[in-house]
Amino acid sequence: MKTKVLIDVTISCDPPHPYIRQRSMEALAKYYEGWVRDFHDFIRDHRSQDPVSLNVERKYQDQCSFCGYPWEEKPECCDEAIAEWEKEHETTKEEVK
Ligand SMILES: [Zn+2]
Repeated sequence: MKTKVLIDVTISCDPPHPYIRQRSMEALAKYYEGWVRDFHDFIRDHRSQDPVSLNVERKYQDQCSFCGYPWEEKPECCDEAIAEWEKEHETTKEEVK
C-alpha cells in the first residue's frame, strides 16, 4: 500500500526580488549568492541567530540545446536533435567495423 510519510523538513526563504539587467538563471543565482553573503553579515550582528546559514542551491536539468525540452537518451523532441543523434549513431557503427 502506498503511504505518505514526512521524512524531512526544510525552510525556504524568499529574498527581496532582484533587479537584474541580464535575466538569466545564472545571473539570478549569482545575485542570490551575493544577497546571502550580505544577510550572513546581518545575522552575525544578532548573536541569538549566529548559527543560521542560508545556502543557494542550483538545480540542473539536462535539456536539448536546440529546443530546451528535457533531454532523453534517444531524443524525439525536434528534428535537429533527432538528426544529431542519428549522425552520432552512424559514427559509432562505423567505429565498430
Ligand atoms: Zn529538441
